[in-house]
Amino acid sequence: MDDGIGLAEKMLGLPGMRVLEVQDVPGEVVVRAESVRTKATCPSCRRRAEAHDRVEVHLRDLHCFGRPTRLVLAKRRWRCRTKGCVKKTWTEKLSGIAPRQVLTVRAGAEVTRQVGQLCRSVSSVAAEYGVGWDTAWAAVELHGRPLVDDPRRVGNVRALGVDEHTYLSAKPKHPTVYATGLVDLDRRIMIDLFEGKSAAKLRRWTADRSPRWRKGVRVVALDLTETYRSGLSPHLAHARRVADPFHVTRVANRMLDQVRRRVQNETLGHRGRKADPLFRIRKLLLRADEHLDEVGRDKMLAGLRFGDPHDEVLGAWLAKEAVRSVYLTDDVDEATVLLDNAIEACAHDEVPEIRTMAHTLSRWHNEILNHHRTGSSNGPTEGMNFCAKQVKRSGRGFTNFEHYRLRVLLHAGGVTWPRPIQPPPISSTRPH
Ligand SMILES: [Zn+2]
Repeated sequence: MDDGIGLAEKMLGLPGMRVLEVQDVPGEVVVRAESVRTKATCPSCRRRAEAHDRVEVHLRDLHCFGRPTRLVLAKRRWRCRTKGCVKKTWTEKLSGIAPRQVLTVRAGAEVTRQVGQLCRSVSSVAAEYGVGWDTAWAAVELHGRPLVDDPRRVGNVRALGVDEHTYLSAKPKHPTVYATGLVDLDRRIMIDLFEGKSAAKLRRWTADRSPRWRKGVRVVALDLTETYRSGLSPHLAHARRVADPFHVTRVANRMLDQVRRRVQNETLGHRGRKADPLFRIRKLLLRADEHLDEVGRDKMLAGLRFGDPHDEVLGAWLAKEAVRSVYLTDDVDEATVLLDNAIEACAHDEVPEIRTMAHTLSRWHNEILNHHRTGSSNGPTEGMNFCAKQVKRSGRGFTNFEHYRLRVLLHAGGVTWPRPIQPPPISSTRPH
């Protein structure tokens, strides 16, 4: 189909190729093309090479006017005739065609964007392009890995968030597997993640950063677990540690839940049932005091009157509110007074769970108040965990952590995607 004016070549848009034939067959458009180069030099001896024969390769390209496209390409094989040259024959390299890939470069990049940026499942994108899962994933590795490994993606980080999320839910074969996400809190991107949540792994991760990068980290926000705190030393020991407000409040909420369950069990001898007074108010108890309306408050007090004979749950509720009050102010001095009061009151409480919480709070005293000093929190981390969840959902269960890591970083890692071409607008021709 050589039309002599290069119409088909313009449509194809791959330099150095001549279109021989375009067939419209059921399910796809088949474009037969060949390379047009007539001269080549031997890569070994630099002498002139001669054309040997052609080999046919089948490639999947971007859709053509909405129809799947198969590119049947006759690649030239060259031969070196020079005596003693080690190079005998070789296949030419063509721009837009990556060696040993079923997808053209532009199709592979698009598959990567669909899977990475738009968070589509590999199998659905593979099906759309008529290739196997492995082929589509190979394209994601080929095009996505350089985007993730680009040092400019991470850059300097001032405030770092460290937080765990579930990577694999518990199954009969294995317990819950966690992953630790590392988040740039200012740019709200996931800079990296590793499997597990141990101090040793966090230490190893920080050890792998450059000294200059580590020095730039001024603030680290984390939950109230000892492992992360110890994992930050020695490499990030200089950074100011912030206990995340969300996690501090969660400690109080969990304490309240524990007391409620225990009292429930002690008074009625069984776990919470639908009609039990404490079970009915379990959600109202966890709600913030200022968000309780008149009806809710009355219901809560009634539940406590019936289900909490020794005022233990009430005490736990008051302790929870005392902890929450620390975040009602932005002022460090006021927050210090509120936190000290809460710890002091809880430390001498008769309820053991409340005393345990006081102990936890006093161990994290400095980190809790650092939130008021720096204004940092792990809020963005929670958003990143949501992104990770989306990836998990589209992946329908991962078995390979490296695959999971690549996909999460492509989706939420602040990757600079190649700018899509902005076509000039077409205005409507309808009369006004
Ligand atoms: Zn040669």
